[in-house]
Amino acid sequence: MSNKPKISKTEAEWRAQLTPTQYQVVREKGTERPFTGQYWDCKDPGIYCCIGCGERLFESAAKFDSGCGWPSFTAPLDAQGVTEISDNSHFMRRTEVVCSNCGAHLGHVFPDGPAPTGLRYCINSASIDLDQQS
Ligand SMILES: [Zn+2]
Repeated sequence: MSNKPKISKTEAEWRAQLTPTQYQVVREKGTERPFTGQYWDCKDPGIYCCIGCGERLFESAAKFDSGCGWPSFTAPLDAQGVTEISDNSHFMRRTEVVCSNCGAHLGHVFPDGPAPTGLRYCINSASIDLDQQS
């Protein structure tokens, strides 16, 4: 399977589209400080879409209170929607999660989540935008 995103934009296009905070997370694989993002404590129903391309990535039904300070999900809305990449930076073994559609950095997935998946998709608020359902 290729990790190449379907959409490719120039860095200038990314910078024009995103806020500096979003750019740092999405393009430079930054991590927002815990308990500071827009969505870590959000319980509103809806679909969380990629900030880069609008792809529907996570749903509120899969969101859980992990206590870690970042939005956490047990599973993506569609497994094809995200791409998981082995990340050995910062002297840690982690699995990076990016948007399959545009390559935006979303966060990491850890094997310490609740049932049924046992996974915790730890996602930066800066990488997603909640599309609220009424
Ligand atoms: Zn995307």
